[in-house]
Amino acid sequence: MDFRDNPEEAAFRQEVREFISAEYKKDGDGGTVSAAQAASAGGPDAMKRYNAWIKKLATKRWVAPAWPTEYGGAGLSVMQQFVFNEELALARAPRPGGIGITMAGPTIIVYGTEEQKKQHLSGMLEGKVWCQGFSEPGSGSDLASLQTRAEKDGDDYIINGQKIWITGAQYAERMILLARTDPEAPKHKGISYFLLDMKAPGVSVRPLVNMAGTPGFNEVFFDNVRVPRKDLLGEENRGWYVGTTTLDFERSSIGTSIAQGQSVEDLVLWVKENRKGTLQPTAKMELAERSIEAEAARLMSYRVISLQNRGQVPNHEASAVKIFAGELNQRIANTAANILGLPGLLTRGEKGSANARYAPRNGRFGRVYLQSVASTIAGGTSEINRNIIATRGLGLPRD
Ligand SMILES: Cc1cc2nc3c(=O)[nH]c(=O)nc-3n(C[C@H](O)[C@H](O)[C@H](O)COP(=O)(O)OP(=O)(O)OC[C@H]3O[C@@H](n4cnc5c(N)ncnc54)[C@H](O)[C@@H]3O)c2cc1C
Repeated sequence: MDFRDNPEEAAFRQEVREFISAEYKKDGDGGTVSAAQAASAGGPDAMKRYNAWIKKLATKRWVAPAWPTEYGGAGLSVMQQFVFNEELALARAPRPGGIGITMAGPTIIVYGTEEQKKQHLSGMLEGKVWCQGFSEPGSGSDLASLQTRAEKDGDDYIINGQKIWITGAQYAERMILLARTDPEAPKHKGISYFLLDMKAPGVSVRPLVNMAGTPGFNEVFFDNVRVPRKDLLGEENRGWYVGTTTLDFERSSIGTSIAQGQSVEDLVLWVKENRKGTLQPTAKMELAERSIEAEAARLMSYRVISLQNRGQVPNHEASAVKIFAGELNQRIANTAANILGLPGLLTRGEKGSANARYAPRNGRFGRVYLQSVASTIAGGTSEINRNIIATRGLGLPRD
């Protein structure tokens, strides 16, 4: 395997690197990947910084770099997208993301009418937040069993039911929604896919605060919500197939594995500054293991991208790196807690509070630990399982 860039990739890498170094101001916390995450993890200031950065990226058409140029993207090849994501991660600059750009937009490009493309795509590039309304209290991995109903009423549909674990719903203007339009049909044949206006009367959102204190996901309730027919994406009762397309937009996780390598480096730096000569050999071994694992995660991401580059769809390969990286987050945070001692458990506090003063590295490791545990308890690996079951038809055929 050749890890080197070819001349075009090297030139593109240089262009991205120069742009970032000229335009991006580090905020010390880096690595935020979407508007919703900026808002939930960093509050209004992080959101402002994120939006300012997105405006700069827009000047290069790099907000949705993978989209075709006719829809405002840069039409980057698979390898160019990879180089772009890798350089952003190396610079700790936020990657434009979120459900709109990475999932809803590409699905609308495939299935949408011209009117739907005109109505929604440019708004996503300007930062409008979308959320994904698929999971329900009784339907997770077995997504096709979903019960939220969409009943026809003249030219509209009336939605009733509940969704859960909806990331960023409290900030979203639109939701990609799966709802049952034909309860008599086999379960995956009676579902339709809607582009729901979150401000429609009858939609209510209740945040679920995780153990890290972050309101990452939400419950969303629908009480006789009226959706016009123009907001149906694709054909009625064929929403399952539109939904599996959404779930097929896999990524290589290169941003995550680079950020993990950087976390380990940060930890080593902290040790050099604060614990020089006093670290136990077992702690040194732990650090070395984490460093090797972060490198393994990076190589697994390379495998995913090389499959995509050959025109193949990575499936278990992408899931494996996601599970490995999710568990590695916890191991890194555990190692950090062991090395930093009690102050390592502090998370970032308000300015001037004791936390702000004593939390090493701005409380980042304590936060990562709580978030990664919370996400696993909430079903991090089962989310991956759902994607495999849904897209590969294990017991749930595609046709
Ligand atoms: C961080 C995060 C963000 C999320 N954001 C969203 C979002 O924005 N929108 C959204 O719609 N959903 C979201 N989800 C929900 C996620 O998609 C669900 O958690 C997922 O579908 C799994 O469903 P469940 O939690 O009900 O687990 P279950 O389906 O009840 O699974 C429980 C356990 O059983 C196992 N299992 C289930 N079925 C099988 C099987 N057939 N074979 C073997 N093992 C099986 C699973 O692996 C898991 O260990 C999010 C989840 C997480 C963790």
